[in-house]
Amino acid sequence: MVVIKSTSARKIKDSRGEATILVEIKTNVGKFSASAPNGKSKGKHEAKPYKKNLEGDIKALKDLGEYFSEDILEDFNDLKRVEDIVEGHVGANTLFALESAVLKAMAKEQKKEIWELINPFAKKMPCLVGNCVGGGKHSSPVGGKKPDFQEFELIPNTKTIKEAYEKNLQTQKMIKVFLKKEDEKFKESFNDENAWETSLNEKQVLDILKKTKIPLGIDVASSSFYKRRKYKYENPSLDRTSEEQMFYLSNLIKNFRLIYIEDPFDEEDFDSFAKLLKKFPNSLIVGDDLTVTNLKRVKKAAEKKAINALIVKPNQNGSLIQVKEICKFAKENEIKIVFSHRSGETGENILADLTFGFQADYFKSGISSKVREIKIKRLIEIEKKLK
Ligand code: PEP
Ligand code: MG
Repeated sequence: MVVIKSTSARKIKDSRGEATILVEIKTNVGKFSASAPNGKSKGKHEAKPYKKNLEGDIKALKDLGEYFSEDILEDFNDLKRVEDIVEGHVGANTLFALESAVLKAMAKEQKKEIWELINPFAKKMPCLVGNCVGGGKHSSPVGGKKPDFQEFELIPNTKTIKEAYEKNLQTQKMIKVFLKKEDEKFKESFNDENAWETSLNEKQVLDILKKTKIPLGIDVASSSFYKRRKYKYENPSLDRTSEEQMFYLSNLIKNFRLIYIEDPFDEEDFDSFAKLLKKFPNSLIVGDDLTVTNLKRVKKAAEKKAINALIVKPNQNGSLIQVKEICKFAKENEIKIVFSHRSGETGENILADLTFGFQADYFKSGISSKVREIKIKRLIEIEKKLK
């Protein structure tokens, strides 16, 4: 059993150089810490990362420290007790980091892997969704231009995660050569998630990626350019109505055989998601800003038949008990689960254990860079131990 003796937190920098939180707990079995990532293209309905601000949450955790010592924490569901104590005092990022640290303590005390606390019978590895080329809110313009879509994903179909990881790394390097040839403004620069920045538009990027023969996906992140009932494209400058967006995306899905389409419409437009899913039931129509790892919104999306896949970003909610319920609901309703990094990441790798423990179908992250690779490498380590 684990007993928390005190809690504290401090500010650290994420991969974008922005402040985020690291939580440390002192327990009967030692000290444990965990940090939370930061999003940039956030859903409107996403939980707040901090109650008021980061400093306020740091103080709240310090003040609450002594209230934990009565509780004996023995299994995953005991996280509810932790939640009851901090409820209303801290935001989602702080809660996520705190619960992650508690899971680390429990795993150590029980001599188990963290994923075993969630599901000791887990055995299926997720497929990798690797962000290869970027645009939108995560990228800076190259020579004044960038793609309007946020992410262009490689989704290799391999037997093992290790092979998928190697394939994505190799392909991302190869894409550099193509971009150099096709984009005279290309500067070999990476965006927030270590995806290539380019001045090309989405069609031109997909034309290049098509050459790889790897199944492709996109994160349109369309809420980020939906204004006054129009999708405001800038590269080239063009306004599209919802109907025109439907027509445009349908053509892209057909022409580039896209198997994964995240946030194709605005975060309030469940009906257009549903229409697209009806047209393309064999592609994954994925909710991220639409569903924001919130059970109520996930249920609404399921009722409306708006999605057949769902992004789970644990820090978008904070409560791992809620994350568990969302995954259960998704499985009961045949909605595929995609665990995802955030654009501002830290060296924390617990996301890999959560992904495997909850038996997610996909794991989405950047392909290269230390903060992304640390999570993929942890998945590879789990895969190796299973054999
Ligand atoms: C995303 O939109 O899928 C994403 C990872 O963005 P962020 O972390 O900036 O919310
Ligand atoms: Mg997204």
